[in-house]
Amino acid sequence: MTGARRGNGSRPARRGQSTTTVGDERSALRVLVMVGGPGAGKGTQARYLSAALGLPHVASGDLFRDAMAEGTPTGLEAKAYYDRGALVPDELTVRMIAERLDQPDAASGAILDGFPRTVPQARALDGFLLRRGTRLEGALYIDVSEDELVRRLSGRWICSGPAQHVYHVVNHPPERPGICDFDGTELSQRADDAADTIVARLEKQLPPMYEVVDYYAERGLLLPVAGETRASEVTDALLRAIEHAVAEPVT
Ligand code: AMP
Repeated sequence: MTGARRGNGSRPARRGQSTTTVGDERSALRVLVMVGGPGAGKGTQARYLSAALGLPHVASGDLFRDAMAEGTPTGLEAKAYYDRGALVPDELTVRMIAERLDQPDAASGAILDGFPRTVPQARALDGFLLRRGTRLEGALYIDVSEDELVRRLSGRWICSGPAQHVYHVVNHPPERPGICDFDGTELSQRADDAADTIVARLEKQLPPMYEVVDYYAERGLLLPVAGETRASEVTDALLRAIEHAVAEPVT
């Protein structure tokens, strides 16, 4: 994998007004999406943002893993794609996210992590929000090079507790090998973090992701943040980007 990524973080946003409105309607629904390659840190950052903003963290990958573990029709259909590192078809993914966003805990909005991953998914989300009288607050793009994504994914170990603390064999090893520092649960590697699946995931998933980056950049909604600094610095940069987007929403 080469470092030939071409994320588009530099286009100027079209911002100006001071409230989020669609027509004359004001909406309390706050939806932010997190865009970035597998291993960019979307999950870790989304959990911090969820706590900071008081919005539920909705991760499409977690929803698929739960559906597969429960053996639901969505899980059974998604498994073949998931196991080979491919994207699950848009229709199934959009339906699953829409159902999740209709749950009561998402009444005031959500941080979407890993969705949308294709332009049709981004359009479907826009339509969903428009029908609820609002629009996306911003698309947070965590920019990490492809070489760094491979390095992170291949050394990644995750705890089995609900917080899913993330470790790295070299960068961030646990104090006791194989055990989470925080909740004492066993660490494991995700099945799709196996070396050949990592390459497949990046090859299949990065090109549509760059299209999603362009889609949001063209609409003035992209909030790009450098993702190769310390996790706390990434969080601060994301919170600053959100503050700025709220102060100057897209007209
Ligand atoms: P993640 O945990 O976000 O890395 O997602 C794990 C896997 O779930 C991906 O490799 C895809 O197979 C599937 N997946 C997650 N989100 C999406 C999405 N928005 N569209 C299609 N497939 C997805």
